[in-house]
Amino acid sequence: MTAPIDPKNMTCEQFQALLPELIGTGQDINRHPHIQSCALCSALLADLETIAQAARELFPIEEPPEELWAHIETAIKKEESAADTKSGESGGSEPVKMHEKPAGEPAL
Ligand SMILES: [Zn+2]
Repeated sequence: MTAPIDPKNMTCEQFQALLPELIGTGQDINRHPHIQSCALCSALLADLETIAQAARELFPIEEPPEELWAHIETAIKKEESAADTKSGESGGSEPVKMHEKPAGEPAL
């Protein structure tokens, strides 16, 4: 005879064993009494939701990968040009050193 687990009094192990079932049945896990009283499991659930959302964003069948890469490239180029402008403006002109010409060349 197994007594039903009291949701308010379950251990993390019991809750996590129940998680797939809760997700599978489409329940609002954020409202689960254990989540509301357990920081560990609410953090775990937040992680799971982040992963699930990232997975949905990573496999957008509609969007062609080329477009995605174009977005990424544009973002990178923007960052690079921003960095260039910054260093160019703050640094000023560097003093030119006179003794930088190659010394090994024979003077004719
Ligand atoms: Zn817990």
